[in-house]
Amino acid sequence: MTTNKHKIQWLNLPGYKGETWNPLLGCKKVSEGCANCYATKMAHRLMHMHTTDYMFVLKDNGESDPEKFKYLREWNGQSHAMTKAFRRPFNWKSPHVIFVCSMGDLFFEKHSYDYIDKVFAVMASNPQHIFIVLTKRPKNMLEWFNWKDESWQNKGMQGNERIRYYCYHDYGVKIEFKDWKWPLQNVWLGVTVEEQKHIQRIDYLLHTPAAKRLVSVEPMLSAIEFDDLCHEGQLYDPLGGFGDINRGSGKKLDWVICGGESGHKARPMHPDWVRSIRDQCKAAKVPFFFKQWGEYLLIEETAQPPFYRAANTGDEFDSHGINFYDPETGEPGKWMGHKFIEDLNTPGGMYWNAGRKLAGNLLDGVKHEQYPQLETQK
Ligand code: SF4
Repeated sequence: MTTNKHKIQWLNLPGYKGETWNPLLGCKKVSEGCANCYATKMAHRLMHMHTTDYMFVLKDNGESDPEKFKYLREWNGQSHAMTKAFRRPFNWKSPHVIFVCSMGDLFFEKHSYDYIDKVFAVMASNPQHIFIVLTKRPKNMLEWFNWKDESWQNKGMQGNERIRYYCYHDYGVKIEFKDWKWPLQNVWLGVTVEEQKHIQRIDYLLHTPAAKRLVSVEPMLSAIEFDDLCHEGQLYDPLGGFGDINRGSGKKLDWVICGGESGHKARPMHPDWVRSIRDQCKAAKVPFFFKQWGEYLLIEETAQPPFYRAANTGDEFDSHGINFYDPETGEPGKWMGHKFIEDLNTPGGMYWNAGRKLAGNLLDGVKHEQYPQLETQK
């Protein structure tokens, strides 16, 4: 068992090593959760640390001086296959949990189906690992699963047949038909639902074949009511805890991950939103993983000023316990009322920009780090 923890906390599944794998690069913003896209910033950094593949997916800023930065922190809308990265999972011998396309979206419309096939062939050829695919484009994902290739090469092949073919043709891995399971038992599919208005992404996910299905509510931008999901005019609950899931796909979610936004321009989240997801998951017995608060804690005044309480964690402190600093002098420990902000996207309150580390991941004093039950082979 490994003890090295991955910084993406939910990749630390006991007995596995967390990794990210980016065979396909490029993306495009699709919804509010993309506003402060971390991947573009990281791609920009990697580009200037000489991972030149990123030049194909970042916007050019028109700079002609080769000594100066030539790319922006923005996608150019193109797709690029990082062919030299395709075989990476073959090199990892111990069981890994691998976040696929952490720097983009595997089902970005510009990625060719042929490359997506080859990514799945790598996953099929490495059953010792668990691969996690998260998308904001579940409609494309479902379409890919239903796609029947009419090209000359694989005439009429269904997705699963094509992938078995690529396992052998591209990677030399022969999987006998009797051993072939579709959907792949080591691939977990998920959607990001950062706010309630994207709840229907879950309906596409539940209609897509998968060994396990998860929802990532990150960065959390609103409260989420799972039982507001609609299929053909009827509401159903993807957690299966309330109502009749058979109104939808007959499938339910296996895992819910939740977390706040971090980094420059992060948006705060209200603790009640997280409590509600925790309670919905608990009622439905669906594993819940709370990753982090992000940068902000909601602050309440207590009956005995100058004491304050972080509503998220229950911790109490006086104003000097907050490591505020004076932007002019840089002096720490000084009460800086203007560091409290009122955010219009949240129910009213004072939010303290505590920073990701200090804000932590305790909800009412408790860590929530549950994972789905594993039936996959190791
Ligand atoms: S889907 Fe992900 S990678 Fe793509 S723009 Fe949005 S946040 Fe960035």
